[in-house]
Amino acid sequence: MKLSIVVPCYNEEAVISRFDERIRTVLGELAVEYELCYVDDGSADGTLLRLRSIAQQHRTTTRYLSFSRNFGKEPAMLAGLKEATGDAVIIMDADLQHPPELIEKMLDLYQLGHDQVVAKRSREGDRRLRTALSRMYYRAVNSWVDVELADGVGDFRLLSRTAVDALISLPEYNRFSKGLFSWIGFDTVTFDYRNAAREAGETKWRFGSLINYGIDGMLSFNCRPLRAAIYTGLGLAFCASLYTLWIIGAAAVGGITAPGYVTLVAIIVGLGGLQMVMLGLIGEYIGRIYYESKRRPHFLVKESNGTAPGRRPASAAARSTTARVTPGAPQAG
Ligand code: UDP
Ligand code: MG
Repeated sequence: MKLSIVVPCYNEEAVISRFDERIRTVLGELAVEYELCYVDDGSADGTLLRLRSIAQQHRTTTRYLSFSRNFGKEPAMLAGLKEATGDAVIIMDADLQHPPELIEKMLDLYQLGHDQVVAKRSREGDRRLRTALSRMYYRAVNSWVDVELADGVGDFRLLSRTAVDALISLPEYNRFSKGLFSWIGFDTVTFDYRNAAREAGETKWRFGSLINYGIDGMLSFNCRPLRAAIYTGLGLAFCASLYTLWIIGAAAVGGITAPGYVTLVAIIVGLGGLQMVMLGLIGEYIGRIYYESKRRPHFLVKESNGTAPGRRPASAAARSTTARVTPGAPQAG
C-alpha cells in the first residue's frame, strides 16, 4: 500500500524543515511506500522556498502546491486530498503538534479495516479559558447539530481512499471539515494522544477566529437555528399577550397607574437586539447561498511540482472545482 501525508502550511518556515526530517525518519522506519503532499497556503515567509528545496532533495516522495494567496486551512486540506494518490491519507499540521510517531498506530488500525482513524488530543498545554470554552461549546453544539462534533478531535486523522473520495466529492464552498468528516461516516475509530506544544512559529488562531469557527460549526450543518428563531418569536408573542392581559386586568381592578417607562425601554431594546440576531442569522444563511452560487474554485494554485512520477490525472471532481493558474491562460472568474 501507499501512504500519503497531507500537510497544510501557512507561514511555517521556522518548523517545516524539522517536520520534514522527523516525518521521513518515522516513515523510513515503518518501511512503507509514502509521499508527502505539502500545500503552501500563500505563506508570506520563506515556506515556499523550503518546500522547493525539500522537493528537490526528495524528488520521488514529495509533492507540493502553492496557492496564489492565503485561502485558509480548509481549502489547503482539500487541495492536499485532491493531490494525494495514496491508498490511505493522513492529514497533519506542519508544527509537529501532531506526533509523527502515531502514524504506526494509525496504520495498524487502518489495516484492521477502518476507513477513518481519528487521533483525539488531550487539552493539556492549552490555555484554561480556551479549554473551558471549548467544552461548553461542544456540549451546546452537539445538542443541536445533526452531525456529531467531538471535542479534541481535529483534522489529524487517517482516511482510506474511499473516505478521501467521498470528501472530495462534496462540492460545497463553505467547508467545515470537522462536520464533513463526521457527515461522510464510514467505519471510524478514535484513539487518544497527548497534545504536543507547537515546536516553532506561532498559531494562526486568534480569539475572534475561534468564535467565527464556532458559529460556522453551528450553521454549517442544518437550519435548526432558524427553527429556534421561530420558537423564540412564538414564545415572546405568548409572553407579550400574557403581559397585556395582566396590565388590562390590573387597570380594571386598581385603575390606571403610572406608565411603565423603564419596562417599555427595556422591551424595545431587548426586542431590537433579538431582531438583529435573527436578521443576522438569516443573513448568514443567505451569505452562504451567495458564496455557493458564485461557484468559484476553492483555491488557485500558482506553483506545483506536478511532474512528480506516478502522478495520477486529476479526477473529474477535482477539475470542476480547481483552477490552476497557467500564465497566459484565461482565468475562471
Ligand atoms: N494553516 C493553513 N492556513 C491557514 C492557517 C493555518 O494552512 O490559514 C495550517 C498551519 O500551517 C498548520 C495548521 O494549519 O499546519 C494548523 O494551524 P495552527 O497550528 O496555527 O493551529 P492550531 O494548532 O493552533 O489550532
Ligand atoms: Mg498548531
